[in-house]
Amino acid sequence: RYFTKTQEFDGMPKVIDFKIVEEEIDDDLKDKEILGEAIYISVDPYTRYAVYYNVPPGAPIIGFQVIKVTKSKNPKYFVGEKIMVHGGWRTTCKVDDEQVWYKVDKISGIDTSVFVGALGMPGMTAYCGFLEICQPKEGETVFVNGCAGAVGNLVGQIAKIKGCKVIGCCGSDEKIKFAKSIGFDDVFNYKTCKDYPGILKKMAPNGVDCFFDNVGGRMSTDVLACMNVGGRISVCGAISAYNSKTLGQGLSTGLSSSKMLRNQLLMRGFGVGQFKDKFPEALKHMIQWIQEGKLKIHETTTKGFENTPQAFIDMLSGGNIGKA
Ligand code: NDP
Repeated sequence: RYFTKTQEFDGMPKVIDFKIVEEEIDDDLKDKEILGEAIYISVDPYTRYAVYYNVPPGAPIIGFQVIKVTKSKNPKYFVGEKIMVHGGWRTTCKVDDEQVWYKVDKISGIDTSVFVGALGMPGMTAYCGFLEICQPKEGETVFVNGCAGAVGNLVGQIAKIKGCKVIGCCGSDEKIKFAKSIGFDDVFNYKTCKDYPGILKKMAPNGVDCFFDNVGGRMSTDVLACMNVGGRISVCGAISAYNSKTLGQGLSTGLSSSKMLRNQLLMRGFGVGQFKDKFPEALKHMIQWIQEGKLKIHETTTKGFENTPQAFIDMLSGGNIGKA
């Protein structure tokens, strides 16, 4: 079974925009192919726009999952092993080397689900997108929006490990409590905050050195006004725009060039795949930090394959804490 879209999304996706399709999968595998059953499926914001641009009607919705191998013609992967793949929203998938990210090693104290979160794509995004682009130094101030989500909560925790002061914002008081429980120094609710630059100046009186941007839009422009000379901005996502009817329009941040110029700011967007060479190092450190108790794992889990669209919509609407 797999999910496909019944129609183009109009603003926030709805459950009726999706349907389950049943198909017969030919288990006569070609060289390097692997067949597996889904254990955990990841719901991610990028699916919102990737489906719009790249998934024709009838095709499976794309996404990451951990599968258990049931048949293999790939010498690297054996029956019974678990692997993290870009296999889509499907119960059974046939993948080749191109779609395999890596094996899900048995690691003491770490659940399999973590391989779609902190040890999966969002974890690699947080580690590489933050450390490679922001290059944080001890004592610096870091600001992260979307700070209770899959990527944001990890960026905040990594920044604390690196000895930074960490400020965040998110969409509910429950999330503020969560972010503080994992080490954020100060957090505010962007939905109830009336003076965004004002609260930032109060929480980061010495200015912001590193800004990890998950959200984009007007609020991100306001953060620029608080950035210190030599500040670094990692543009990870623009979720505030993903459900806008004209996707492109919402992606504009209204960037203030004079601020960039005067404060010699560095702003860089990235796609996590470009850091593939860094994944082994990232995995090593993330595993070590989890085992040492320095990196806490939090997940929002939905049971039942048929509930995948609802889990996706809930995540886009802010229903998740940590990885969905
Ligand atoms: P999250 O787990 O953070 O879930 C999405 C969250 O976004 C929601 O819980 C909600 O939290 C918040 N949100 C939704 N709408 C808005 C809005 N209009 N304004 C502000 N916040 C909003 O998702 P991920 O951690 O997986 O992804 C975070 C960002 O990172 C996304 O933009 C995503 O596209 C990007 N990303 C980029 C990658 C890359 O390679 N560049 C790879 C992976 C992710 P709240 O309650 O706080 O509003």
